[in-house]
Order: sequence, then structure tokens, then C-alpha cells
Amino acid sequence: MLKMHLCGDPILREVATPVETIDDDLRRVLAEMVKIMDRQKGAGLAAPQVGILKRFIVMRDPGTNELFKMINPKITARSDGKIIMEEGCLSVLGPDDMPVFADVARPSTVEIVWTDEHGAPQTAEFSGNVARIVQHEYDHLDGILFIDYLSSVKREMVMRKVKKRK
Ligand code: ZN
Repeated sequence: MLKMHLCGDPILREVATPVETIDDDLRRVLAEMVKIMDRQKGAGLAAPQVGILKRFIVMRDPGTNELFKMINPKITARSDGKIIMEEGCLSVLGPDDMPVFADVARPSTVEIVWTDEHGAPQTAEFSGNVARIVQHEYDHLDGILFIDYLSSVKREMVMRKVKKRK
């Protein structure tokens, strides 16, 4: 049974290590992460958020509903152009147990390579919502949270809501 790890938990600030073996255990964890993501109405979830310091994520394209399970993802190109979009995180919850949202600027398009759950190499170029989600989840593998991109004033506003939850 996987448990969500929330903002303030030091595991969210660690750099995850690459997956070496793709086996049934990993596929079972990926399936459970999809269940958690869907139950919490999230668009993505990264392994460190469920307490596993390994490089894999799950996410759903909100446009097509396509499900991605990415093992050892690597962003290979980012557009120069950035866009601002509202972002939230299943590990950054406010007093009502719902994600706290804030505007974040990120590259509008990214190219990414990864290994799928059957061991096959995959590559894609994403833009729009799904580019946003994949960059957010990818950051989790390097111990980065979306609040790190906010001005100190905005970050304080988010953290005040997070602290109210406790
Ligand atoms: Zn997140």
C-alpha cells in the first residue's frame, strides 16, 4: 500500500536514482500510482511522492486522456518560449485537503525520452497542458517543487495555506 508524502517531507527534496530493472513489482507500483492519481483527480504523480526514490512517473494527457507510465524519463529539449499556467500538486495541499494553485512560467514545448513499462524506448514532443504536467512530474525526480519557481511573496501565500492544514 503506497502512501502519499506531503510538502515538508524531506523525501520530496531528494534526487531520485534511475530504475535498473523493469519487472512485475515495478508494473504493480505504476498501476497503484495510477489509481492514486485518478482517485485524487490529479494529472500526474511521481515516485518520490509515494515514498519511492526512483525515477518514474505516471500522468494523463487531459486533452486525449492518454495514460503515460514513464521510466527513467529525460527531457532532451525545451522551447525558448515560456507560458504561464496555473499549477497545483498532490503533495502541496491546503486546509481543505485540496491542492493549492499558483501561476508558474515554464517552457511551452518539451521533447522527452523514456522507457515504457515493457522496456521499450519511447519519445514524444509535448505542448500545452501535457507539457506542463510532464515538466512538473519530472521536477519531482530532482527534488524540485513548483513552489520553487514562485516569488517569495507568492510562495509565502502558498505555504500559509499549507500550514493551515496541520
Ligand atoms: Zn507535484
